[in-house]
Amino acid sequence: MSAPAIDRPTATTPSAASPPRLGPDDAVDLHLHTLASDGAWTPDGLIDHLVGAGIKVAAVCDHDTQRSVLEVIRLGRERGVWVVPGVEVTTRWSNRQWHLLVYGVAPDRSDTASEPFRALLAEQDAELQRLAEDARQRVEASARPIPSLPDVLAGRPMWPFHVLSALIKDGHCRGLKDAAELVVALGGNFTTDLPLARVVHAAHRAGGICVVAHPGRADAGSLMLEADLDAMLAEIPIDGLEAHYRSYTDQQTALYRRLAAERGLLVSCGSDSHAPKTPVDPRPWRAAWCAALLGRLGVSVEDAAAAEPDVWAAGMDALAVVPKSPAEQTVGFVEAAARAARSAADAAKAAANAALSAAEMAEAAVAAVRKLHTPDPAATDTPGEGATAGSTPEGPNGQAAPAGEQVLEVAAEVARGN
Ligand SMILES: [Zn+2]
Ligand SMILES: [Zn+2]
Repeated sequence: MSAPAIDRPTATTPSAASPPRLGPDDAVDLHLHTLASDGAWTPDGLIDHLVGAGIKVAAVCDHDTQRSVLEVIRLGRERGVWVVPGVEVTTRWSNRQWHLLVYGVAPDRSDTASEPFRALLAEQDAELQRLAEDARQRVEASARPIPSLPDVLAGRPMWPFHVLSALIKDGHCRGLKDAAELVVALGGNFTTDLPLARVVHAAHRAGGICVVAHPGRADAGSLMLEADLDAMLAEIPIDGLEAHYRSYTDQQTALYRRLAAERGLLVSCGSDSHAPKTPVDPRPWRAAWCAALLGRLGVSVEDAAAAEPDVWAAGMDALAVVPKSPAEQTVGFVEAAARAARSAADAAKAAANAALSAAEMAEAAVAAVRKLHTPDPAATDTPGEGATAGSTPEGPNGQAAPAGEQVLEVAAEVARGN
């Protein structure tokens, strides 16, 4: 059975349900959450907002689920908003988590090509429900009742996020970080991920497009540096980068647009809005900025090539975050961070080597000094003249031990890490 035309990423059938033709300035937002994952937008509320904000094309990308997608597509169709099916899959690559936006795979498909991708999301959902039940039991066994859990769930399948939210609501924790740490301290877990390569291959088989979400954020998923991107591409054929994001400065946008352009990758634009003003409302990104991706999703953008900037410059996005420090204005924030991290690592290595040599030198020196000043048993028990009680330990013949020896011993201890 084939999927309805609207759910096809390259649908061209002319009908009321066919994708719109956009002008370069038309507004799009390709990264939105709903109450299907950790957001609070209802499908209705989200479409109301998008209509009011004049956003023509939107993608619903809940974490690891597409439960809201069909409802938002249906409501959008009635109200003139073209909704692209999406999902933000929690993946793992190179020992770190990466959020991967997969566009263009509708959840109601039943064809063989989309089977591996649907199976992978079902697996992720089942694991999250298992972790949530485990966390709930651990929390309750630790004498922390969470009576608000049914209200938090409101009929949704229970995920760890809901248990964490109930922990906060019932006054056991101050915030999500606290709550997550508590679950881990109780022996549970609140997150799970799938191998990036597996997700990308399954998504591609289903005709999906894979875009690394918010590569410039270090606090959600991983911060992507140029070297990470090249290492990733050497192994896994991702399709694009979210080069426009709500927290980016123009410098970050310029960096990720350049990295994408140099490697022939697509560019996406997303606010990552989870609820009204949380952390931001959906944002009207210019269709021209992600025209190639929109084209792959069946949405054509007129005059996009003419409108698309070759080189991103400050001021092109009036809503871009203003850099906090002058350093951020003169160099790409991420590249500066990478340089700083590399120098810190080099410095740490150098310090470790220096400490090792210092320890060896110090020990050799201590041995040498001891050899020179063979202790006199009589003298060590009886402070000689010139020494005051409680002062410097004595050396042979009642003289103060060479200050150098004490310094070297302390140095040797410090260098050994004692
Ligand atoms: Zn994310
Ligand atoms: Zn997101």
